[in-house]
Amino acid sequence: MNNKNLLLVISGPAGSGKGTVVKEIMKESDSFAYSVSATTRQPRPGEVDGVNYYFVTREEFEENIKNDSLIEYTQYCGNYYGTINSKVKEALKEKNVILEIEVEGAMNVKKKFPDAVLVLLLPPDFKTLEARLRGRATETEDVIKARLEKSKIEMGCFEQYDYVVINKDEGAKKAALDIINITKSEIQRTSRRLEVKEHFYE
Ligand code: 5GP
Repeated sequence: MNNKNLLLVISGPAGSGKGTVVKEIMKESDSFAYSVSATTRQPRPGEVDGVNYYFVTREEFEENIKNDSLIEYTQYCGNYYGTINSKVKEALKEKNVILEIEVEGAMNVKKKFPDAVLVLLLPPDFKTLEARLRGRATETEDVIKARLEKSKIEMGCFEQYDYVVINKDEGAKKAALDIINITKSEIQRTSRRLEVKEHFYE
């Protein structure tokens, strides 16, 4: 991994507001690129192929697994989701790259790229999470229940994350700015700035 730009992993249970927070980050700063994942899930209304996800068939996805084209992948509530290696590597040359992925994927990214920064985005409490998920009204009751169950399991990885950001109801902008600030600090971390020492006495 290039040591200048950051691989920023953002996870959070369904209903944590990840999507909105990521959009706010992109609006507030032009130093981030969003990694578009591949998935076998059906597009939701308004989702665009190549923008929100690359919507692929199971056969196409399994071909990507075979070809080793994915940094990580997982099955989430019956569908495949995966991060496309070539796209991330290309984007990292220019910008910090945001992976908006669930916890299992996040743990696998950290194993492959130990200097990736992992941020867990959470709603203020479980009740808020449930209300947000039901308010979305695009999923069946079964899917909502599966996602709520999954979010409880996901909380088990809480301590594996480098940062926890709470997305309060006052708006996603605050959480987005928190994440931008985390990125700015991380970029200045001593272990990422070794060239400064080398150049200092030249
Ligand atoms: P959704 O169906 O709501 O768009 O996404 C379901 C979950 O899959 C979310 O937690 C989302 O962050 C995660 N996800 C999206 N893309 C990827 C990916 O490429 N890899 C992994 N591991 N999870 C992903």
